Amino acid sequence: MGEFELIRNFFAAAPCAQGGEGVALGIGDDCALLAVAPGEQLAISTDTLVAGVHFADPCDPFLLGQRSLAVAVSDLAAMGATPLAFTLALTLPTVATDWLAAYARGLNAMAQDCAVRLIGGDTTRGPLTLTMTVFGRVPAGRALTRSGARPGDLLCVGGPLGDAAGALPLVLGQRQAAPAVAEPLLARYWSPQPQLALGQALRGKATAALDISDGLLADCGHIAAASSVGLQVVLDTLPLSRPLVDFLGLEGARAAALSGGDDYVLAFTLPPADLTPLQAAGWPVHVVGQVVAGQGVALLDAAGQDITPGIRGYQHFPETP
Ligand code: ADP
Ligand code: MG
Repeated sequence: MGEFELIRNFFAAAPCAQGGEGVALGIGDDCALLAVAPGEQLAISTDTLVAGVHFADPCDPFLLGQRSLAVAVSDLAAMGATPLAFTLALTLPTVATDWLAAYARGLNAMAQDCAVRLIGGDTTRGPLTLTMTVFGRVPAGRALTRSGARPGDLLCVGGPLGDAAGALPLVLGQRQAAPAVAEPLLARYWSPQPQLALGQALRGKATAALDISDGLLADCGHIAAASSVGLQVVLDTLPLSRPLVDFLGLEGARAAALSGGDDYVLAFTLPPADLTPLQAAGWPVHVVGQVVAGQGVALLDAAGQDITPGIRGYQHFPETP
């Protein structure tokens, strides 16, 4: 199968590539065209997944299709943007049609869930690598950024943390667990649900936001730096799922929540007055700490003692000491 047949069969023909609101021209020309309404801005983000670095290889291509798009769309959620479209740059070692068909099905399933349209891409030969660029729309000036946190704000997260990191030994086949534990954790790893509705609900309320991809402590460091504030995380308040605690124990679950990657749950700062109305409206908002004057991220125990660990999250190019 040649390059053009591959693009036509697996991607241009997919339901998610048939255009939709805001897509003026989709796959097939030199560029796609997006319509941007007056008073709106485009939110754009790119994510690359490299086989053996970001996912085990081989792995289930349907699940990979879901996950590769979810991690990219999660960045739109973090900005409070509404998904519009995405491109897919696919580097493949060989043309394996069964693999491509399953990958495209998984991609399409997540695209339909997130109401995002495939509008183009690139197809090349080389080590398996997936690059997604996502486009979203947001009312001008109202995107959630990392830079607006103020001392006195609450530090919040949008749901239980650590499940995806907890699932990693299961994904890698290093450990086994009963289905009641393994299934929910693996689901959180393979099909993270970008918190799009929550991100949009936080527009005009959250003072800073991001999606947690590298662990709560590491990612909070980005808000602290961008906002020139300090963040305090209170260990006892971390929301943890039952399956994670059953699998790793409380200590292990807390470590996964603090330093494990891949959760794609939103972390955000919120003026205290906004907390109760959001929770009363049913939004998943868990307070895990607060914003203070200063810099960096500190971990506190229930008594307020600083118990900050030394190692934080995953970095592709660690800083030299
Ligand atoms: P060009 O040579 O102009 O870069 P290509 O031949 O690479 O264009 O691609 C032809 C069309 O197919 C373009 O519209 C491109 O966006 C689209 N495309 C290529 N690869 C993919 C892919 N993996 N998924 C979706 N669309 C793709
Ligand atoms: Mg090309």
